[in-house]
Amino acid sequence: MKVRAQIAMVLNLDKCIGCHTCSITCKNVWTSREGVEYAWFNNVETKPGVGYPREWENQRKWNGGWVRTAGGALQLKAGGRWRLLSKIFANPDLPQIDDYYEPFDFDYQHLHEAPEGKHQPTARPRSLISGERMQKIEWGPNWEEILGTEFSKRSKDANFDSIQREIYGAFEKTFMMYLPRLCEHCLNPACVASCPSGAIYKREEDGIVLIDQDKCRGWRMCVSGCPYKKIYYNWKSGKSEKCIFCYPRIEMGEPTICSETCVGRIRYLGVMLYDADRIAEAASVPSEKDLYQAHLDIFLDPNDPAVISAARREGIPDSWLEAAKASPVYKLAVEWKLALPLHPEYRTLPMVWYVPPLSPVQSAADAGKVGMNGEIPDVKSLRIPVRYLANLLTAGDEAPVVTAMERLLAMRAWRRALNVDGVEDTAVL
Ligand code: SF4
Ligand code: SF4
Repeated sequence: MKVRAQIAMVLNLDKCIGCHTCSITCKNVWTSREGVEYAWFNNVETKPGVGYPREWENQRKWNGGWVRTAGGALQLKAGGRWRLLSKIFANPDLPQIDDYYEPFDFDYQHLHEAPEGKHQPTARPRSLISGERMQKIEWGPNWEEILGTEFSKRSKDANFDSIQREIYGAFEKTFMMYLPRLCEHCLNPACVASCPSGAIYKREEDGIVLIDQDKCRGWRMCVSGCPYKKIYYNWKSGKSEKCIFCYPRIEMGEPTICSETCVGRIRYLGVMLYDADRIAEAASVPSEKDLYQAHLDIFLDPNDPAVISAARREGIPDSWLEAAKASPVYKLAVEWKLALPLHPEYRTLPMVWYVPPLSPVQSAADAGKVGMNGEIPDVKSLRIPVRYLANLLTAGDEAPVVTAMERLLAMRAWRRALNVDGVEDTAVL
Protein backbone atom coordinates (compact mmCIF):
# COMPACT_ATOMS: atom_id res chain seq x y z
CA MET A 1 0.00 0.00 0.00
CA LYS A 2 1.41 3.36 -1.06
CA VAL A 3 -0.64 6.01 0.75
CA ARG A 4 -0.95 9.43 -0.83
CA ALA A 5 -3.02 12.47 0.13
CA GLN A 6 -5.11 14.42 -2.34
CA ILE A 7 -7.01 17.65 -1.95
CA ALA A 8 -10.40 17.28 -3.60
CA MET A 9 -13.69 19.10 -4.08
CA VAL A 10 -17.39 18.23 -4.04
CA LEU A 11 -19.95 20.46 -5.76
CA ASN A 12 -23.59 20.09 -4.81
CA LEU A 13 -25.37 20.75 -8.10
CA ASP A 14 -28.70 21.00 -6.34
CA LYS A 15 -27.57 24.29 -4.88
CA CYS A 16 -25.83 25.93 -7.85
CA ILE A 17 -27.78 28.96 -9.02
CA GLY A 18 -25.63 29.65 -12.05
CA CYS A 19 -24.58 33.09 -10.87
CA HIS A 20 -21.02 32.68 -12.27
CA THR A 21 -19.53 34.42 -9.24
CA CYS A 22 -17.00 31.59 -8.90
CA SER A 23 -15.85 32.11 -12.50
CA ILE A 24 -15.54 35.86 -12.10
CA THR A 25 -13.59 35.76 -8.86
CA CYS A 26 -11.30 33.07 -10.26
CA LYS A 27 -10.80 35.14 -13.40
CA ASN A 28 -10.00 38.27 -11.40
CA VAL A 29 -7.41 36.47 -9.32
CA TRP A 30 -5.73 34.19 -11.86
CA THR A 31 -6.42 35.01 -15.51
CA SER A 32 -7.11 38.72 -15.71
CA ARG A 33 -4.09 39.11 -17.95
CA GLU A 34 -3.17 39.54 -21.58
CA GLY A 35 -2.81 36.19 -23.36
CA VAL A 36 -5.46 34.35 -21.37
CA GLU A 37 -8.53 36.46 -22.01
CA TYR A 38 -10.48 33.40 -23.12
CA ALA A 39 -9.24 31.20 -20.28
CA TRP A 40 -11.69 30.30 -17.53
CA PHE A 41 -9.97 28.05 -15.01
CA ASN A 42 -13.46 27.83 -13.54
CA ASN A 43 -16.50 28.13 -15.75
CA VAL A 44 -20.17 27.32 -15.24
CA GLU A 45 -21.95 25.51 -18.04
CA THR A 46 -25.64 25.34 -18.76
CA LYS A 47 -26.55 21.72 -19.32
CA PRO A 48 -27.54 20.11 -21.52
CA GLY A 49 -25.46 22.26 -23.78
CA VAL A 50 -22.38 22.41 -25.94
CA GLY A 51 -20.12 23.63 -23.13
CA TYR A 52 -16.83 25.49 -23.19
CA PRO A 53 -14.95 24.90 -25.42
CA ARG A 54 -17.80 23.70 -27.55
CA GLU A 55 -18.53 19.98 -27.47
CA TRP A 56 -15.63 19.34 -25.10
CA GLU A 57 -17.29 16.10 -23.99
CA ASN A 58 -17.12 14.63 -27.50
CA GLN A 59 -13.89 12.63 -27.36
CA ARG A 60 -14.53 11.19 -30.81
CA LYS A 61 -13.82 14.71 -31.93
CA TRP A 62 -11.10 15.80 -29.48
CA ASN A 63 -9.43 12.46 -28.66
CA GLY A 64 -8.74 13.38 -25.04
CA GLY A 65 -8.18 11.04 -22.11
CA TRP A 66 -7.19 7.38 -22.09
CA VAL A 67 -8.35 4.26 -23.87
CA ARG A 68 -7.92 0.70 -22.72
CA THR A 69 -6.19 -1.41 -25.35
CA ALA A 70 -7.24 -4.99 -26.11
CA GLY A 71 -4.30 -6.16 -24.01
CA GLY A 72 -5.63 -4.23 -21.01
CA ALA A 73 -3.03 -1.46 -21.02
CA LEU A 74 -3.89 2.22 -20.95
CA GLN A 75 -2.96 4.41 -23.87
CA LEU A 76 -3.48 8.10 -24.50
CA LYS A 77 -6.39 8.47 -26.86
CA ALA A 78 -4.58 11.10 -28.90
CA GLY A 79 -1.94 8.49 -29.65
CA GLY A 80 0.79 9.59 -27.32
CA ARG A 81 3.34 12.30 -27.27
CA TRP A 82 5.56 11.16 -30.11
CA ARG A 83 2.83 10.94 -32.70
CA LEU A 84 1.76 14.42 -31.75
CA LEU A 85 5.31 15.73 -31.82
CA SER A 86 5.54 14.83 -35.47
CA LYS A 87 2.23 16.54 -36.16
CA ILE A 88 2.59 19.53 -33.90
CA PHE A 89 1.84 22.06 -36.57
CA ALA A 90 -1.31 20.29 -37.61
CA ASN A 91 -2.53 18.86 -34.33
CA PRO A 92 -6.07 17.83 -35.25
CA ASP A 93 -7.16 17.51 -31.63
CA LEU A 94 -6.50 21.09 -30.64
CA PRO A 95 -9.47 23.44 -30.13
CA GLN A 96 -9.15 26.74 -31.95
CA ILE A 97 -10.17 30.12 -30.57
CA ASP A 98 -13.50 29.84 -32.37
CA ASP A 99 -14.26 26.76 -30.30
CA TYR A 100 -14.00 28.91 -27.19
CA TYR A 101 -15.80 31.88 -28.63
CA GLU A 102 -15.34 35.44 -27.44
CA PRO A 103 -15.19 36.46 -23.77
CA PHE A 104 -18.60 37.13 -22.28
CA ASP A 105 -18.59 40.80 -21.39
CA PHE A 106 -20.76 43.82 -20.74
CA ASP A 107 -20.71 47.19 -22.43
CA TYR A 108 -19.18 48.90 -19.40
CA GLN A 109 -18.58 52.19 -21.21
CA HIS A 110 -22.29 52.82 -21.46
CA LEU A 111 -23.57 50.84 -18.53
CA HIS A 112 -25.47 53.73 -16.96
CA GLU A 113 -26.65 55.79 -19.92
CA ALA A 114 -27.36 53.00 -22.42
CA PRO A 115 -31.03 52.55 -23.28
CA GLU A 116 -32.58 49.35 -22.01
CA GLY A 117 -31.86 46.60 -24.51
CA LYS A 118 -33.12 43.12 -25.05
CA HIS A 119 -29.77 41.54 -24.33
CA GLN A 120 -27.33 43.39 -22.08
CA PRO A 121 -24.25 41.22 -22.63
CA THR A 122 -22.25 41.98 -25.73
CA ALA A 123 -21.71 38.31 -26.64
CA ARG A 124 -23.77 37.19 -29.60
CA PRO A 125 -24.70 33.68 -30.66
CA ARG A 126 -22.92 32.29 -33.64
CA SER A 127 -23.77 29.48 -35.96
CA LEU A 128 -22.69 25.95 -35.36
CA ILE A 129 -23.22 23.07 -37.73
CA SER A 130 -24.38 20.17 -35.64
CA GLY A 131 -26.20 16.89 -35.66
CA GLU A 132 -26.42 14.09 -38.16
CA ARG A 133 -28.37 16.25 -40.55
CA MET A 134 -25.81 19.06 -40.31
CA GLN A 135 -28.38 21.45 -38.93
CA LYS A 136 -27.25 25.00 -38.33
CA ILE A 137 -27.98 26.10 -34.77
CA GLU A 138 -27.16 29.16 -32.74
CA TRP A 139 -24.40 28.72 -30.23
CA GLY A 140 -22.55 30.65 -27.56
CA PRO A 141 -21.34 29.95 -24.04
CA ASN A 142 -24.42 29.43 -21.84
CA TRP A 143 -26.64 30.29 -24.78
CA GLU A 144 -28.70 27.18 -24.01
CA GLU A 145 -30.09 29.09 -21.05
CA ILE A 146 -32.44 31.07 -23.26
CA LEU A 147 -33.36 28.21 -25.52
CA GLY A 148 -36.48 27.34 -23.56
CA THR A 149 -37.91 30.80 -24.14
CA GLU A 150 -36.63 31.08 -27.68
CA PHE A 151 -37.92 27.73 -28.76
CA SER A 152 -41.26 28.02 -27.04
CA LYS A 153 -41.75 31.28 -28.93
CA ARG A 154 -40.65 29.76 -32.17
CA SER A 155 -42.76 26.67 -31.75
CA LYS A 156 -45.82 28.86 -32.35
CA ASP A 157 -44.24 29.86 -35.61
CA ALA A 158 -45.37 27.79 -38.57
CA ASN A 159 -41.79 27.80 -39.85
CA PHE A 160 -40.38 26.30 -36.68
CA ASP A 161 -37.95 23.70 -37.84
CA SER A 162 -38.70 20.18 -36.73
CA ILE A 163 -35.01 19.35 -36.74
CA GLN A 164 -34.38 21.95 -34.07
CA ARG A 165 -37.08 20.29 -32.02
CA GLU A 166 -35.19 17.05 -32.50
CA ILE A 167 -31.95 18.60 -31.26
CA TYR A 168 -33.28 20.29 -28.17
CA GLY A 169 -36.50 18.43 -27.56
CA ALA A 170 -39.94 19.93 -27.32
CA PHE A 171 -40.12 22.80 -24.84
CA GLU A 172 -42.36 20.86 -22.50
CA LYS A 173 -39.68 18.24 -22.09
CA THR A 174 -36.70 20.53 -21.65
CA PHE A 175 -34.71 20.58 -18.46
CA MET A 176 -31.75 22.63 -17.40
CA MET A 177 -29.03 22.46 -14.80
CA TYR A 178 -25.73 24.14 -14.09
CA LEU A 179 -22.38 22.40 -14.16
CA PRO A 180 -19.49 24.41 -12.70
CA ARG A 181 -16.20 23.04 -14.03
CA LEU A 182 -12.55 23.26 -13.14
CA CYS A 183 -9.47 21.08 -13.59
CA GLU A 184 -10.16 17.73 -11.96
CA HIS A 185 -6.63 17.34 -10.54
CA CYS A 186 -6.92 13.76 -11.71
CA LEU A 187 -5.19 10.81 -10.06
CA ASN A 188 -4.28 9.52 -13.53
CA PRO A 189 -3.87 12.80 -15.42
CA ALA A 190 -3.73 12.58 -19.20
CA CYS A 191 -2.18 16.05 -19.34
CA VAL A 192 0.90 14.90 -17.40
CA ALA A 193 1.33 11.90 -19.71
CA SER A 194 0.86 14.02 -22.84
CA CYS A 195 3.57 16.58 -22.12
CA PRO A 196 6.78 15.90 -24.09
CA SER A 197 8.69 18.42 -21.95
CA GLY A 198 7.82 16.83 -18.62
CA ALA A 199 6.54 20.23 -17.54
CA ILE A 200 3.31 19.03 -15.91
CA TYR A 201 3.47 17.32 -12.57
CA LYS A 202 1.27 16.18 -9.74
CA ARG A 203 2.42 17.51 -6.38
CA GLU A 204 3.46 14.75 -4.05
CA GLU A 205 2.02 16.37 -0.93
CA ASP A 206 -1.50 17.24 -2.06
CA GLY A 207 -1.99 15.95 -5.62
CA ILE A 208 -2.47 19.39 -7.17
CA VAL A 209 -1.55 19.26 -10.88
CA LEU A 210 0.67 22.13 -12.00
CA ILE A 211 2.53 23.27 -15.11
CA ASP A 212 6.14 24.33 -14.58
CA GLN A 213 6.23 27.54 -16.60
CA ASP A 214 10.01 27.35 -17.00
CA LYS A 215 9.84 23.90 -18.55
CA CYS A 216 6.72 24.38 -20.72
CA ARG A 217 7.61 24.71 -24.40
CA GLY A 218 4.09 25.41 -25.61
CA TRP A 219 3.62 22.11 -27.47
CA ARG A 220 -0.04 22.08 -26.37
CA MET A 221 -0.26 18.29 -26.26
CA CYS A 222 -1.74 18.75 -22.79
CA VAL A 223 -4.60 20.78 -24.29
CA SER A 224 -5.34 17.87 -26.62
CA GLY A 225 -4.73 15.20 -24.00
CA CYS A 226 -6.97 16.66 -21.29
CA PRO A 227 -10.46 15.28 -21.95
CA TYR A 228 -12.02 18.01 -19.80
CA LYS A 229 -10.29 20.68 -21.91
CA LYS A 230 -9.12 22.47 -18.82
CA ILE A 231 -5.72 23.60 -20.06
CA TYR A 232 -5.44 26.89 -21.90
CA TYR A 233 -2.65 28.12 -24.12
CA ASN A 234 -1.42 31.62 -23.29
CA TRP A 235 -0.84 33.24 -26.68
CA LYS A 236 1.34 35.96 -25.15
CA SER A 237 3.75 33.87 -23.08
CA GLY A 238 3.61 30.86 -25.43
CA LYS A 239 3.01 28.55 -22.46
CA SER A 240 0.08 26.50 -21.29
CA GLU A 241 -1.78 27.34 -18.09
CA LYS A 242 -4.39 25.70 -15.92
CA CYS A 243 -6.23 25.83 -12.60
CA ILE A 244 -3.73 25.63 -9.76
CA PHE A 245 -6.37 24.77 -7.14
CA CYS A 246 -5.36 28.09 -5.53
CA TYR A 247 -2.36 26.28 -4.03
CA PRO A 248 -0.92 29.41 -2.38
CA ARG A 249 -4.21 29.73 -0.49
CA ILE A 250 -4.39 25.99 0.29
CA GLU A 251 -0.87 26.19 1.73
CA MET A 252 -2.10 28.98 4.04
CA GLY A 253 -5.06 26.87 5.14
CA GLU A 254 -7.52 28.91 3.10
CA PRO A 255 -10.14 27.63 0.65
CA THR A 256 -9.91 28.10 -3.10
CA ILE A 257 -11.30 31.40 -4.36
CA CYS A 258 -14.21 29.69 -6.13
CA SER A 259 -15.18 27.92 -2.90
CA GLU A 260 -14.86 30.97 -0.72
CA THR A 261 -16.92 33.19 -2.98
CA CYS A 262 -19.57 30.64 -4.01
CA VAL A 263 -22.93 32.29 -3.52
CA GLY A 264 -24.82 29.00 -3.29
CA ARG A 265 -22.32 27.53 -0.81
CA ILE A 266 -22.20 24.46 -3.02
CA ARG A 267 -18.48 23.66 -2.70
CA TYR A 268 -16.82 21.43 -0.13
CA LEU A 269 -13.07 20.92 0.12
CA GLY A 270 -11.38 18.00 1.78
CA VAL A 271 -8.43 15.64 1.91
CA MET A 272 -8.68 12.08 0.60
CA LEU A 273 -6.20 9.28 1.27
CA TYR A 274 -5.70 6.77 -1.52
CA ASP A 275 -3.56 3.82 -2.46
CA ALA A 276 -1.31 4.96 -5.32
CA ASP A 277 -0.44 1.33 -6.10
CA ARG A 278 -4.00 0.75 -7.28
CA ILE A 279 -4.32 3.59 -9.77
CA ALA A 280 -3.32 1.68 -12.91
CA GLU A 281 -5.65 -1.18 -12.04
CA ALA A 282 -8.58 1.16 -11.28
CA ALA A 283 -8.11 3.21 -14.45
CA SER A 284 -7.97 0.18 -16.71
CA VAL A 285 -10.92 -1.95 -15.60
CA PRO A 286 -12.42 -3.51 -18.73
CA SER A 287 -15.98 -2.21 -18.44
CA GLU A 288 -16.59 1.53 -18.37
CA LYS A 289 -19.54 0.96 -16.07
CA ASP A 290 -17.17 -0.46 -13.43
CA LEU A 291 -14.96 2.62 -13.44
CA TYR A 292 -16.95 4.49 -10.80
CA GLN A 293 -16.72 1.60 -8.32
CA ALA A 294 -13.03 0.97 -9.18
CA HIS A 295 -12.39 4.66 -8.49
CA LEU A 296 -14.09 4.42 -5.09
CA ASP A 297 -12.08 1.33 -4.20
CA ILE A 298 -8.73 3.13 -4.23
CA PHE A 299 -9.67 5.44 -1.35
CA LEU A 300 -8.54 4.47 2.11
CA ASP A 301 -10.45 4.77 5.36
CA PRO A 302 -8.79 7.69 7.20
CA ASN A 303 -9.89 6.20 10.56
CA ASP A 304 -8.23 2.83 9.95
CA PRO A 305 -5.12 2.53 12.23
CA ALA A 306 -3.27 0.51 9.55
CA VAL A 307 -3.87 3.29 7.02
CA ILE A 308 -2.78 5.94 9.51
CA SER A 309 0.52 4.21 10.31
CA ALA A 310 1.18 3.53 6.61
CA ALA A 311 0.47 7.20 5.87
CA ARG A 312 2.87 8.29 8.62
CA ARG A 313 5.58 6.04 7.18
CA GLU A 314 5.05 7.83 3.84
CA GLY A 315 5.60 11.17 5.59
CA ILE A 316 2.04 12.46 5.46
CA PRO A 317 1.81 14.99 8.30
CA ASP A 318 -0.64 14.51 11.17
CA SER A 319 -2.44 17.73 10.27
CA TRP A 320 -3.38 16.18 6.91
CA LEU A 321 -4.42 12.93 8.54
CA GLU A 322 -6.72 14.88 10.84
CA ALA A 323 -8.08 16.76 7.83
CA ALA A 324 -8.71 13.44 6.06
CA LYS A 325 -10.72 12.18 9.05
CA ALA A 326 -12.92 15.25 8.96
CA SER A 327 -13.10 15.40 5.18
CA PRO A 328 -16.56 16.19 3.80
CA VAL A 329 -15.34 14.96 0.42
CA TYR A 330 -14.60 11.49 1.81
CA LYS A 331 -17.99 11.40 3.53
CA LEU A 332 -19.95 12.66 0.52
CA ALA A 333 -18.14 10.60 -2.11
CA VAL A 334 -17.08 7.39 -0.39
CA GLU A 335 -19.14 6.93 2.78
CA TRP A 336 -22.51 8.28 1.70
CA LYS A 337 -22.04 7.88 -2.08
CA LEU A 338 -23.86 11.12 -2.72
CA ALA A 339 -21.11 12.71 -4.83
CA LEU A 340 -20.12 11.16 -8.15
CA PRO A 341 -17.16 11.77 -10.50
CA LEU A 342 -17.51 13.62 -13.81
CA HIS A 343 -17.16 11.40 -16.89
CA PRO A 344 -15.22 8.53 -15.31
CA GLU A 345 -15.08 6.91 -18.76
CA TYR A 346 -12.17 9.22 -19.62
CA ARG A 347 -10.17 7.04 -17.20
CA THR A 348 -8.24 9.91 -15.63
CA LEU A 349 -9.74 9.27 -12.14
CA PRO A 350 -11.03 12.84 -11.64
CA MET A 351 -11.05 14.40 -8.15
CA VAL A 352 -13.82 16.96 -8.44
CA TRP A 353 -17.08 15.25 -7.46
CA TYR A 354 -20.69 16.21 -8.03
CA VAL A 355 -23.86 15.69 -6.01
CA PRO A 356 -26.51 15.22 -8.73
CA PRO A 357 -29.29 17.81 -8.86
CA LEU A 358 -32.84 16.88 -7.84
CA SER A 359 -34.21 20.16 -9.03
CA PRO A 360 -36.22 21.47 -10.69
CA VAL A 361 -38.70 19.65 -8.50
CA GLN A 362 -41.53 22.15 -8.64
CA SER A 363 -43.29 20.35 -11.47
CA ALA A 364 -42.90 17.04 -9.63
CA ALA A 365 -44.23 18.65 -6.45
CA ASP A 366 -47.17 20.13 -8.36
CA ALA A 367 -47.91 16.67 -9.67
CA GLY A 368 -47.91 15.34 -6.12
CA LYS A 369 -44.77 13.32 -6.74
CA VAL A 370 -42.59 15.12 -4.19
CA GLY A 371 -45.03 15.79 -1.41
CA MET A 372 -44.64 17.18 2.06
CA ASN A 373 -45.65 13.88 3.56
CA GLY A 374 -42.18 12.42 3.69
CA GLU A 375 -42.78 9.85 0.98
CA ILE A 376 -39.79 9.19 -1.22
CA PRO A 377 -40.89 9.51 -4.83
CA ASP A 378 -39.60 7.51 -7.72
CA VAL A 379 -36.53 9.47 -8.79
CA LYS A 380 -37.42 8.81 -12.40
CA SER A 381 -40.43 11.08 -11.94
CA LEU A 382 -38.09 14.05 -11.45
CA ARG A 383 -37.52 16.31 -14.38
CA ILE A 384 -33.85 15.69 -15.13
CA PRO A 385 -33.60 12.19 -16.63
CA VAL A 386 -31.58 9.72 -14.58
CA ARG A 387 -30.08 8.45 -17.83
CA TYR A 388 -28.71 11.92 -18.57
CA LEU A 389 -27.09 12.20 -15.14
CA ALA A 390 -25.69 8.67 -15.42
CA ASN A 391 -24.06 9.54 -18.74
CA LEU A 392 -22.54 12.59 -17.08
CA LEU A 393 -21.42 11.05 -13.79
CA THR A 394 -21.17 7.27 -13.85
CA ALA A 395 -20.38 6.24 -17.43
CA GLY A 396 -24.01 5.29 -17.95
CA ASP A 397 -24.62 3.24 -14.79
CA GLU A 398 -27.96 4.47 -13.43
CA ALA A 399 -27.87 2.59 -10.10
CA PRO A 400 -25.41 4.90 -8.25
CA VAL A 401 -27.31 7.97 -9.47
CA VAL A 402 -30.62 6.55 -8.26
CA THR A 403 -29.08 5.67 -4.87
CA ALA A 404 -27.68 9.18 -4.46
CA MET A 405 -30.96 10.83 -5.44
CA GLU A 406 -33.04 8.62 -3.17
CA ARG A 407 -30.79 9.50 -0.27
CA LEU A 408 -31.07 13.18 -1.07
CA LEU A 409 -34.84 12.93 -1.23
CA ALA A 410 -34.92 11.02 2.06
CA MET A 411 -32.80 13.73 3.64
CA ARG A 412 -35.09 16.40 2.24
CA ALA A 413 -38.18 14.62 3.59
CA TRP A 414 -36.56 14.23 7.00
CA ARG A 415 -35.48 17.87 7.18
CA ARG A 416 -39.01 18.92 6.35
CA ALA A 417 -40.29 16.80 9.21
CA LEU A 418 -38.17 18.63 11.77
CA ASN A 419 -39.89 21.40 13.63
CA VAL A 420 -38.12 24.59 14.69
CA ASP A 421 -36.77 22.87 17.80
CA GLY A 422 -35.27 20.09 15.69
CA VAL A 423 -37.85 17.55 16.87
CA GLU A 424 -39.30 15.13 14.31
CA ASP A 425 -42.95 15.82 13.58
CA THR A 426 -44.39 12.34 13.22
CA ALA A 427 -47.42 13.68 11.39
CA VAL A 428 -45.08 14.70 8.56
CA LEU A 429 -42.76 11.72 8.62
FE1 SF4 B 1 -4.90 17.28 -16.31
FE2 SF4 B 1 -6.75 18.70 -15.01
FE3 SF4 B 1 -7.24 17.76 -17.46
FE4 SF4 B 1 -7.09 16.07 -15.37
S1 SF4 B 1 -8.65 17.70 -15.72
S2 SF4 B 1 -6.17 15.77 -17.39
S3 SF4 B 1 -5.47 17.04 -14.16
S4 SF4 B 1 -5.73 19.32 -16.88
FE1 SF4 C 1 -22.83 28.00 -8.80
FE2 SF4 C 1 -21.50 28.87 -6.62
FE3 SF4 C 1 -20.51 29.33 -9.05
FE4 SF4 C 1 -22.73 30.66 -8.26
S1 SF4 C 1 -20.67 30.84 -7.34
S2 SF4 C 1 -22.38 29.64 -10.27
S3 SF4 C 1 -23.74 29.08 -7.00
S4 SF4 C 1 -20.79 27.30 -8.11
